[in-house]
Amino acid sequence: MSAPTAARVEAAEVPTGPVVELRGIRKSFGRTEVLRGIDLDVLPGTVTVLLGPSGSGKSTLLRTINHLEKVDAGTVRVHGELIGYRRAGRHLRELHEREVLRQRSRIGFVFQDFNLFPHLTVLENVVEAPVSAQRRDRREVETEALALLERVGLRDKAREYPRRLSGGQQQRVAIARALALRPELVLFDKPTSALDPELVGEVLDVLRDLAGSGTTMVVVTHEIGFAREVADRVVFLSDGVVVEEGTAAQVLDAPQHERTRAFLARVL
Ligand code: ADP
Repeated sequence: MSAPTAARVEAAEVPTGPVVELRGIRKSFGRTEVLRGIDLDVLPGTVTVLLGPSGSGKSTLLRTINHLEKVDAGTVRVHGELIGYRRAGRHLRELHEREVLRQRSRIGFVFQDFNLFPHLTVLENVVEAPVSAQRRDRREVETEALALLERVGLRDKAREYPRRLSGGQQQRVAIARALALRPELVLFDKPTSALDPELVGEVLDVLRDLAGSGTTMVVVTHEIGFAREVADRVVFLSDGVVVEEGTAAQVLDAPQHERTRAFLARVL
C-alpha cells in the first residue's frame, strides 16, 4: 500500500459527521414541558437559525447544547462526545462540574444581554476564559485577542471598560470573547434583541463575516432578513417541537405548515 499523501491525511483528520447531534430532547420547567422531543443535526461549517414564536423553547434548546440547561430526556453530542453526561452501564451519570466546564470551553456562547465582566477591560474579557479554562499562555492569547478585536472593529477599545461601550460594541466584544476559545461551534441566543435598532446592523455584519468564514453557528433570532441571507438551515419551533425545517427558501418562502405560515405572517 502506498504511503498516504498529505492531502489524504488531512482529509482523514477533518471531522465529517455532524458537529451537534440532538436526540429526543425533553425539558420541563415545573409542570410545563417546554421541549417535547427534539432531534436536530448541525453540520460542520453551516449556519442553523432557530425561529419560532416567543416561548416556543428556542433559547432553552440552544442552552441544552452546552448544558446550561439540563435535559430531562435525550442526548446532546458535540463531535460525537456526550455533553453533560457519561455512560454508566445502561444509565447516564451527570459529569463533574469541572468536566462540564471543559466541554463548555469547546462551545462559544453569545448571550442576549452580552454578559461581559464589568470589572474587566475589553481585552481582559476576551482573554479570561482561554487562560483560566483552557490553561493557554496569556501572552499568546492576548495577541490572538487583539486580532479578534480587530476583526470585530474594536481594536481601539481594548483598554476600555464595558460600561463605556454601546450595546452593539459590547455584543461585538462578547463575540470576540466567544471566538477566543477557538470553539468548534458558536451558539447565539437572540444576539441583537437587546440592542437599539440602529445598532443591530453592526452585530449582524459580524455574524455575516463569521458565517462567510465557515464558522459552525446556531443562532436564535427574530431577524428574518438575516436568516434568509445567511442560514443554511432554518428550523421552525412551536410549542417545543420542530414543526418544519429546511433551507431558508423552503421554510421562509414556501412554508408547508399552517403554524409556520401564521408566524411568518405576523413577523414579516
Ligand atoms: P423562546 O426562546 O422560544 O422565547 P424559551 O426557551 O426562552 O422560549 O422559553 C420557553 C418557555 O420556558 C417559556 O414559557 C419560558 O417562560 C419557560 N422558561 C424558560 N426558562 C425557564 C426557567 N429557568 N424557569 C422556568 N420557566 C422557564
